[in-house]
Amino acid sequence: MMPPQPECGPRIDTSRPHDPATTGKWKDDDHAAHAARLDAHPDDEETTLTDTDLVVLGGGSGGYAAALRAAQLGLTVTMIENDKVGGTCLHKGCIPTKALLHAAEVADSARHGDAVGVKSSLEGIDMSGVNSYKDGVVAKLYKGLQGLVKSRKITVVEGTGRFVGDRTVEVDGQRYTGKAVVLATGSYARSLPGLDIGGRIMTSEQALTLDHVPDRVVVLGGGVIGVEFASVWRSFGAEVTIVEALPRLVAAEDEWCSKQIERAFRKRGIEFRTGVKFVGAEQGESNVTVRLEDGSSLEADLLLVAVGRGPSTADTGFAEAGVTMDRGFVPTDERLRTNLDGVYAVGDIVAGLQLAHRGFAQGIFVAEEVAGLHPQVIDEVGIPRVTYSNPEVASVGLTEAQAKERYGEVSTVVYDLAGNGKSQILRTAGGIKLVRSGGADTPGPVVGVHMVGERVGELVGEAQLVYNWEAYADDVAQLIHAHPTQTEAFGEAHLALAGKPLHAHG
Ligand SMILES: Cc1cc2nc3c(=O)[nH]c(=O)nc-3n(C[C@H](O)[C@H](O)[C@H](O)COP(=O)(O)OP(=O)(O)OC[C@H]3O[C@@H](n4cnc5c(N)ncnc54)[C@H](O)[C@@H]3O)c2cc1C
Repeated sequence: MMPPQPECGPRIDTSRPHDPATTGKWKDDDHAAHAARLDAHPDDEETTLTDTDLVVLGGGSGGYAAALRAAQLGLTVTMIENDKVGGTCLHKGCIPTKALLHAAEVADSARHGDAVGVKSSLEGIDMSGVNSYKDGVVAKLYKGLQGLVKSRKITVVEGTGRFVGDRTVEVDGQRYTGKAVVLATGSYARSLPGLDIGGRIMTSEQALTLDHVPDRVVVLGGGVIGVEFASVWRSFGAEVTIVEALPRLVAAEDEWCSKQIERAFRKRGIEFRTGVKFVGAEQGESNVTVRLEDGSSLEADLLLVAVGRGPSTADTGFAEAGVTMDRGFVPTDERLRTNLDGVYAVGDIVAGLQLAHRGFAQGIFVAEEVAGLHPQVIDEVGIPRVTYSNPEVASVGLTEAQAKERYGEVSTVVYDLAGNGKSQILRTAGGIKLVRSGGADTPGPVVGVHMVGERVGELVGEAQLVYNWEAYADDVAQLIHAHPTQTEAFGEAHLALAGKPLHAHG
């Protein structure tokens, strides 16, 4: 059993009675109560102009999740999208990059087949084949999503929307007023001052449609996107150098993760220059020269600019209509309300983790909030994070440094994947680091899980339950993990933290 909770109780409230409305199956009374709540809006006269319950501006992860959940709850929804429903994640982000990473994994398997006695070699990469595989995955998911949107009877308006205030969005002269509005216009790839995108200098968007494998690449930025592309191109045979101004790769992660991935990248022949700033880049006929602050320069076929993503809020009318803005982002309270009544914001335009599943969760939250279900506030720290490179980095909760800042005393353990049978079968190095609040004598719950290794992204589901349910090492240690799986390493790490390591030295 879990010892008494030292703080405010589990991060996920498991004690709440099940609300039938959350199943999407509303009774007549529920609808009547809901309509009364919406009609009690302070701007009562304006509700007469309302053509829909919810107007969603932007059909990406955040926007379409809000639309789908609201429709499921019986609200009428109008969603405005100027490109393709699915947004960055489906068309230019998560899905196509992960297809590339899978192709990269297959290439590595072919290249290293002899290590497991399989006669194979990598003949080469046919980028048109890779791209058609990638595009096929995206197309199939896009078709499915369109079908889902249609089946939920969501009105999709194609065009560029501008928020004009009074819970109204204008598209090509036509106004759509909702009882509530969700702003979900997403993000764009940033560049640096003086660094124009074009030709051999590109962002992830152009890199995703490349029709060849470059011989030499410089990747500017050692965050998630930079590291993933570096990993893909290296597997495809390119010489890759990452340039990162911060002292380490994946700098948002626990320092231990950075060390692990840097070691793995060194082994893979991926070069990186950390703690050095970019100064400029010049394109020639057949190459691009990248100049660095320390006076050195790098030659490459192309330069990938992966220095982060900015909020897509220019020319949206937000500021003009009175939405408070902060460096382009839309500030919200914990219930995702902007400063304007009935106007919410979700996804990448809200400062914080720029992740699709955060957008989904926020979209669902707002739909339920508007429907009057009073959903539980999202704990940003409890959102899992995965970098899908080879090896993967997966984490949830606080880094050791953050935990020390919050709790003072913390204890940690690292379980080396060398002791895990499945990881050895996969021939992957890495480990699992746990951070718990309190010292060995006063152990608190696990407040951070950090993992590096092939396929550890798949372990983050269990990790996020541990964090979000404020589990103690003892709670997890008594759970039985199947042998031989990598989840066993997860169990072993908790056994070690609980003071009873099995397959661990020391
Ligand atoms: C290369 C790359 C890889 C990524 N990989 C992952 C990953 O593996 N896992 C993960 O969780 N996240 C990943 N992300 C991040 C993820 O894609 C974003 O966090 C997510 O898409 C944000 O959702 P959103 O709804 O806020 O914005 P978006 O998905 O950008 O959607 C916004 C939508 O609004 C539309 N729009 C904008 N302005 C207007 C307007 N004025 N009128 C009408 N429509 C408008 C846009 O066309 C777009 O469709 C990745 C991103 C990139 C770039």
